[in-house]
Amino acid sequence: VNPIFGEAGTTIFEAMSRLAAETGAVNLGQGFPEGLEPPEVVEAASRAMREGPHQYPSMMGLPALRQAVAASSKRWLGLDVDWEREVLVTSGATEALADAFFALLNAGDEVLVFEPAYDSYMPIIRRAGAVPVPIRLTPPDWNLPRAEIAAAITPRTRALVLNTPMNPIGKVFSAEELRLLADLMLEHDLVAISDEVYEHLVFDGRRHQTLFALPEVRDRVVRIGSAGKTFSVTGWKVGYVTADARLLGPIARAHQYVTFTTPPALQAAVAFGLNLPDAYFDGLRADLARRRDQLGAGLRAAGFEMAEVAGTYFAVAPIEGLDAEGDDLAFCRRLAIEAGVAAVPLSSFYGARDVRSHIRFCFAKTEATLAEAMRRLARWR
Ligand code: PMP
Ligand code: GLN
Repeated sequence: VNPIFGEAGTTIFEAMSRLAAETGAVNLGQGFPEGLEPPEVVEAASRAMREGPHQYPSMMGLPALRQAVAASSKRWLGLDVDWEREVLVTSGATEALADAFFALLNAGDEVLVFEPAYDSYMPIIRRAGAVPVPIRLTPPDWNLPRAEIAAAITPRTRALVLNTPMNPIGKVFSAEELRLLADLMLEHDLVAISDEVYEHLVFDGRRHQTLFALPEVRDRVVRIGSAGKTFSVTGWKVGYVTADARLLGPIARAHQYVTFTTPPALQAAVAFGLNLPDAYFDGLRADLARRRDQLGAGLRAAGFEMAEVAGTYFAVAPIEGLDAEGDDLAFCRRLAIEAGVAAVPLSSFYGARDVRSHIRFCFAKTEATLAEAMRRLARWR
């Protein structure tokens, strides 16, 4: 048995959801939305399911979805994308990430990964034979540490992974930070895997920005999106990759051996969704910003602090001063069992699991769910 996945144990998201089910805790742990699925997109899936086809679609994805992904790049970012040569459909962003790592990395290549990092990056990078090089962002600002990045780059550095908006901390990378990374990519001949699954979930008038929109590095960026987040259907597992044909070709060849295709009815529904009017996307943002504010107010009332959230549907709270004894995992277990609210420990987002200072709450829940969770926290404190 290969040790890489064994070492990791069961993912914290699965573990905390299980604990929440066992204890009856309100589940603000694993990131999945409640009550936000757009009915017209669900209806489009039902229609496509009734009408078919039901057999393997094209390995690259349904033309309608690839066209919709390219059109979205134009509509939201002003970018021209060739849907036939530059867009691939995958079974979720998770598959897209794995395909990109398998296709673009060679044994011994080093990959810069910013921590706290989404949990699937490092195990798959390692299984692809490459070496993740963690670079830590530190609270309360979580700024990119320029000097540390420069010092971490070696002749073996091949890629960086950037997640903006960033799970779990809710950070949106600034134009200056993207510029800094683009300069390093050019200077050191790097590619970027840009995980943009929360691209539509940016708040307070912000606009999503991406390395892919910087012309000097456009041909070095693999931009990854997910219908799971954009349409609040995380179980659907429909993802998409946009990249220059030189990068997309190898990624598509990895994809053909990993899943080969993605359910056609779901692809058709996602194509329909991506073509919805702006009002849908604006409404989703506004709705989530309201829920973020509800969580913030509730947490503060219960004696927690909530850091600023610019995007995603996650907020982190420091555990210092909360009688947590510096152990975020044990504290999350206690919260689920004693308070009846599930959260996830941020240590799960660090390769070395030695940073135990924060816990993460998901606020993409109904008003009633959030209110109940906040009542329980306040009572427990
Ligand atoms: N990247 C990040 C940062 C995520 O939070 C998620 C959500 N689980 C994914 C990738 C995976 O997305 P999908 O469900 O489309 O595989
Ligand atoms: N992305 C989700 C989160 O961060 C969960 C995905 C999963 O359960 N693997 O909570």
